Amino acid sequence: MAEIQLHNTLAGKIEKFVPQKAGEVRMYTCGPTVYDYAHIGNYRTFVFQDILRRFLKLRGFKLNHVMNLTDVDDRIIANAAAAGKSIRDYTEKFVQAFFDDCRSLSIEAPEHWIRATDHIDDMVKLIERLQQKTFTYPSEGSIYYRIAKFPEYGKLSKVDLTGIQAGARVDNDRYEKESARDFALWKAPKPGEHFWETPIGPGRPGWHIECSAMAMKFLGDTLDIHTGGVDLAFPHHENEIAQSEAATGKPFARYWLHAEHLLVEGEKMSKSLGNFYTLRDLFGKGYKPSALRFALSSVPYRKQLNFTFDGLQQAASSVERLRNFADRLKQGKFPAGKQKGMAARIAKAADEFDAGLSEDLNTARALAAVFDLVREANIAMDKGEFRQGDVSAAQEFLATFDKVFAVMEDNDGEKLRALGFGRPESGPGDTEIDKLVAERNAAKKKRDFVTADRIRKELADRGIIIEDAKDGSVRWKRK
Ligand code: AMP
Ligand code: ZN
Repeated sequence: MAEIQLHNTLAGKIEKFVPQKAGEVRMYTCGPTVYDYAHIGNYRTFVFQDILRRFLKLRGFKLNHVMNLTDVDDRIIANAAAAGKSIRDYTEKFVQAFFDDCRSLSIEAPEHWIRATDHIDDMVKLIERLQQKTFTYPSEGSIYYRIAKFPEYGKLSKVDLTGIQAGARVDNDRYEKESARDFALWKAPKPGEHFWETPIGPGRPGWHIECSAMAMKFLGDTLDIHTGGVDLAFPHHENEIAQSEAATGKPFARYWLHAEHLLVEGEKMSKSLGNFYTLRDLFGKGYKPSALRFALSSVPYRKQLNFTFDGLQQAASSVERLRNFADRLKQGKFPAGKQKGMAARIAKAADEFDAGLSEDLNTARALAAVFDLVREANIAMDKGEFRQGDVSAAQEFLATFDKVFAVMEDNDGEKLRALGFGRPESGPGDTEIDKLVAERNAAKKKRDFVTADRIRKELADRGIIIEDAKDGSVRWKRK
């Protein structure tokens, strides 16, 4: 197996991955801010961290992985107050939607899902430690972090500190990124909005202190890996480092991994451009969860991902090709024995798959290893050269692939139904059904029963039943 190499933003280069404790990985992922439905860009980052954790598990590491739900945030508190709801009531819908979305994309649950609102005490204690070490100063009921006292500030994002003015403060957690400014650890209450009564005064935590406090509570002073989208490196992660390292005097995280953003048709996603998609928007248009997971994972995480509907369609065909190949292996009656060179060919694909993922999660290289093998084995099958004795090795390789990519199980219909899609009223229109039925008839004529069955299943998943009449005609009806 290849040595695992990961790009570490802190080092500014690719490094060999060695955890602190052999065989164990302590990892923290900044989770969603649950003030709205997460969008496909967010899921690009969450699928990346899922590929990372699945690959580390495949390589035998025991994972201790924490993901938080940011349920304290300026927008959440303001929206909850405007809606006359408690924070829990306001966020619950979005928290559940996030869990549902993760299930539909086969994003594994981390070892710990945690909520900021459950850890206010820990945040307050961390701020008290920073107060004792004089890293803080109060102003108008809020408490700020004094960046000038932490000379290493900027080491992660390499932000230029020359413009920093002592005491220039910012209350907004998500400020413009041109310069570093002292940031709020604790914010004074705003009229009509929720606040906590605490030993450091009434108020609410800033976003950055939430992650520092929760990460160290669950994973100890030094984590192995910290992940997030590239926009979080500054100021969020820079501030996490400043807070944690000032308090403990130890390195906070050893490897920082940042996923590049997803663009839609080459543009930044935004509601005003009309190119802003949640998972539900795509599933409502008839796209499958497995196609989206494949599309999000197929581009290596440090490259921008240009999301297009063509690309999503291609992802769906890629998944289909893999599932058809698995069906062929399962159903095919091949001649006994082994094909010359096939065992070595499969072993080479497995090595190349591992080498691809070991190379800073180069998913494109790993997928190429899989598709090259599938193409060659399909050709061998078509020629009648593929043998039964090679089936189990090929299946084992597909199973290994799927431990990381998680798209092989034919469960899109179930997943969509669980989210309330796929009922007849949101199912396909007559023309589309007629077209698929015709494709199935053509496949049957060619004795391509794998394709015929797949189309039947796809239609069934979408609420359409096909009936083959005795006279050879084919009818369909909605369930
Ligand atoms: P948020 O809910 O805004 O805190 O974001 C959750 C995660 O999604 C963070 O890791 C962000 O960096 C990431 N993220 C936000 N926008 C995008 C995007 N367009 N592409 C990829 N990741 C994103
Ligand atoms: Zn965070």
